[in-house]
Amino acid sequence: MSGTPEPLGIAIVGASLAGLRGAEALRLNGYDGPLSIVGDEPYRPYDRPPLSKHVLAGELAAGATQLPNLVSLDARWHLGQAAIKLDREARIIALAGGTALSFDRLLIATGAQARPWPDPEAARLSGVHTLRGRDDAADLRAALVKNPGRVVIVGAGLIGCEAASCCRDLGLPVTLIDPNPTPLARSLGGAIGGVIAGCLRDAGVDFRPGTQVRALEGDGAVRRVALSNGAAIDADLVIVALGAVRATGWLAAAALMADAGGVTCDGACRVLTADGTAVPEIYAAGDVARWPIPLYDGRLVSIEHWGNAVEQARHAARNMLAAPDDQRPYDHLPAFWSSQFGINIKAVGLTEGADSLAVVQGSLAARRFLAVYGQAGRSIAAVSFDEARWLPAYAERVAARRPFPPIRDANDQPAITSLPPGFPPPRAARHHGVAMGGAHG
Ligand SMILES: Cc1cc2nc3c(=O)[nH]c(=O)nc-3n(C[C@H](O)[C@H](O)[C@H](O)COP(=O)(O)OP(=O)(O)OC[C@H]3O[C@@H](n4cnc5c(N)ncnc54)[C@H](O)[C@@H]3O)c2cc1C
Repeated sequence: MSGTPEPLGIAIVGASLAGLRGAEALRLNGYDGPLSIVGDEPYRPYDRPPLSKHVLAGELAAGATQLPNLVSLDARWHLGQAAIKLDREARIIALAGGTALSFDRLLIATGAQARPWPDPEAARLSGVHTLRGRDDAADLRAALVKNPGRVVIVGAGLIGCEAASCCRDLGLPVTLIDPNPTPLARSLGGAIGGVIAGCLRDAGVDFRPGTQVRALEGDGAVRRVALSNGAAIDADLVIVALGAVRATGWLAAAALMADAGGVTCDGACRVLTADGTAVPEIYAAGDVARWPIPLYDGRLVSIEHWGNAVEQARHAARNMLAAPDDQRPYDHLPAFWSSQFGINIKAVGLTEGADSLAVVQGSLAARRFLAVYGQAGRSIAAVSFDEARWLPAYAERVAARRPFPPIRDANDQPAITSLPPGFPPPRAARHHGVAMGGAHG
């Protein structure tokens, strides 16, 4: 590492939602020392949820997504400079431009990156897009307004479905491909995914469930998507929506418990060394953090949702300023929202391991409902489609680990029956020991 280290203080690596809210919480909790914020993107923190919704739709410019500062930060920003190495013992971060940043305490908030198409050469074909950052969204929007003859989206998770919805609103022909029987199968299960499959059909999306993509083909620009069943689909634009990998590469030399599934923390958000010891001066928060969630019996999860990035960063900031014997465990009820095909989807809890599902308000047929997921007789999650007014009551009960389903005597309830949630069998873990918290990727 070169250069004279800059003054000690608190460093935050990752200048996005968790980094910003963590920095604000440090100031609000009375920290008035030096504060450095490092981000590899050239922008001040901005909001990602609008990228796959309003920005693709052309309702908002990618540059108009900057997050508001809730307090004055008086921070030293190092933007457009990736952290490339952490020397944990010396407490120094090396930045790509050669700067060495020393710290007393560090918050790791480097989030995640879009999982690229696995063949790097095909991933570089023009017309192949991923969607994670502001520049990705601007590029994709610019490509969509050129009216591509056919858009192929690989992966029917939340971002794939949101993109499909926007493309249809723009009048573009869209094919959406996923190996599972329904969209959103891993996050919400096949029963609820079937409702979105109906929306795709009605919106005119060519949805190909149970289908694997073998290759993206072209000659400089993408021309075809080859499927493993031997068929091929002509494509002028491909959106690769295969989820996200956590941005932990820069931690490789730090001997932490970190991999593409996240950096593992203890319950108080302190990162763990490879042998499982908590590092008292280094914390992590947001998409990059993997931690034992108390509500789900200490299962290790990394949650890719906006609300967790905010809450966990605030919690980590609080603990960073607290004494070693006053480190509070971070508990959280995961929650996310999505909007697609004119439906407002909101969900709370983790669906993983659900063995039953009950529609407790409305109906799947009407595409307006609230459904609760159960596991071994306990309510573990709930999802609403255009029925958000009921969600807080169920969220409270999920957080209190109430029996399944938790409310049986509400007005206007349909006859409650339990049905199989229809989750695909667990896949071989991509990242050892990780339970993904319902990915937005
Ligand atoms: C398109 C899209 C739509 C979404 N929609 C929703 C939604 O509707 N609802 C919802 O709940 N959630 C949604 N999410 C998820 C939500 O945006 C994330 O959970 C949130 O952004 C996580 O914040 P973060 O700060 O932890 O990580 P990130 O936002 O990923 O930020 C990490 C930052 O660190 C930077 N970084 C990475 N490595 C380095 C390094 N080595 N050095 C310096 N900087 C580095 C990254 O470039 C990035 O700027 C969406 C996400 C995407 C991508």
